[in-house]
Amino acid sequence: MDNKHLEAALEQALTKPLTHLVNLEHPLDFNAYVHAGGYMGATKALKEFTPKEVLTIVSNSGLKGRGGAGFPTGMKWSCVPSLQENTAGHSINKLENSYLICNADEMEPGTFKDRHLLEGVPHQLIEAMIIASYTISANKAFIFLRGEYHLAAKRLQKAIDEAYENNWLGAKIQGSDYQLDLYLHTSAGRYICGEETALINALEGKRANPRAKPPFPQVSGLFGKPTVVNNVETLSNLPHILKHGSEWFKDLSPHSDPGTKMYAACGQVKKPGLWELPMGVTIRELLFEHAGGMPDGVQLKGLLPGGASTDFLTEQHLDTPMDFDSIGKAGSRLGTGGLIVLGDKHCPVAMVLNLLQFFAQESCGWCTPCRDGTAWAVEILTRIEQGKGTNADLKQLEELCDFMWLGKTHCALAPGAVEPLKSAMRYFKADFEQHIEQGCCSYQKAKGELTTSEEQLAKEQRKGEHHDCAK
Ligand code: SF4
Repeated sequence: MDNKHLEAALEQALTKPLTHLVNLEHPLDFNAYVHAGGYMGATKALKEFTPKEVLTIVSNSGLKGRGGAGFPTGMKWSCVPSLQENTAGHSINKLENSYLICNADEMEPGTFKDRHLLEGVPHQLIEAMIIASYTISANKAFIFLRGEYHLAAKRLQKAIDEAYENNWLGAKIQGSDYQLDLYLHTSAGRYICGEETALINALEGKRANPRAKPPFPQVSGLFGKPTVVNNVETLSNLPHILKHGSEWFKDLSPHSDPGTKMYAACGQVKKPGLWELPMGVTIRELLFEHAGGMPDGVQLKGLLPGGASTDFLTEQHLDTPMDFDSIGKAGSRLGTGGLIVLGDKHCPVAMVLNLLQFFAQESCGWCTPCRDGTAWAVEILTRIEQGKGTNADLKQLEELCDFMWLGKTHCALAPGAVEPLKSAMRYFKADFEQHIEQGCCSYQKAKGELTTSEEQLAKEQRKGEHHDCAK
């Protein structure tokens, strides 16, 4: 980055802390990152604060996890036994055997925010992991990276090597007593590895099934030791919070959830993309100002506000702020903040079928409601989508959604899988009924994708067939 571009980037340091240094063509090397103010947050943490004081700063900032659940980061860290037992200034290298894991296994359909940070400014994540590891007294940390993120892997490994060469990793970091080793681990490639306990199993070389909780990883995680798993975007906030303070972080957003957020939009929009914006931007602003609005001639039908495992919202929710509380009150979840937009020319039944097929394929198979429920939902939805469904199928789908709800499975994959389905049946019930009544998809018909003979055949098959969902 030349001086002119660096000056322009630094002007945005206080409003777009996560992305102002992102350079997707040529990410900053170690020297350039330091020249741009990098490693100042880690320097402050190591030289000016005890781990407990860093915890207080992060807790006061109100930072919540950006991986989907929105759990307060400081609260998560505070469950690590070393931070509960020590009130000030413990000798950190005596408290070995806790681990930090960065969850970089980004695989949710419609979500691509972490990739941008990993490829664009890899040293930011390394600096963040030094701060987090120091706070929870971890001497070993891991980046668990999605296997298909080859470019991110290459750039991260280069940055890790540079950090070792410049004494930001290894023994006695920058003259302190603190030691940290950081390892990059690429996933073998399953969506379920993004669930924190499945991720830990995968890292231990076991089959990537989630674990029953409790115990929670902060108490018994990797190899049975206290382990904190944080998302890439969550961690990337830390250098800036340490550098500018928790009040600055709170002031970034006018809403109760502080900071900025990486928001994305894809699907039926004019300009799909990714933007760092103050937390709580409205859906309307994101969709119509940043993503350019709907394509010409297409009206908004619905949208998933936070990735593929969130509930649909509709036009009535356009002025909802995209923060954890507001989206929750509207009946969905902020999730990863990636809008998936559905226009009125596309079939919602086909869309939820597509999503359910993904979740059924990615189920680890441990719990019956998920293993059998997702596959069964695909079977029924396929029938409906092909115009062969019955009203009994609709009822069965509703019962299935209740069957796969939270508390009946070991992890959130199944409940997440039914969120788009359940909400689609609430908002777009007429579309489901139309497939059943007309024996075909009116969207395909309108696009000329369903010929008269196909339509006739679909109707005849529907009349002549008895659909038994138990088969
Ligand atoms: Fe596995 Fe699904 Fe059960 Fe999660 S809900 S543990 S993915 S079977």
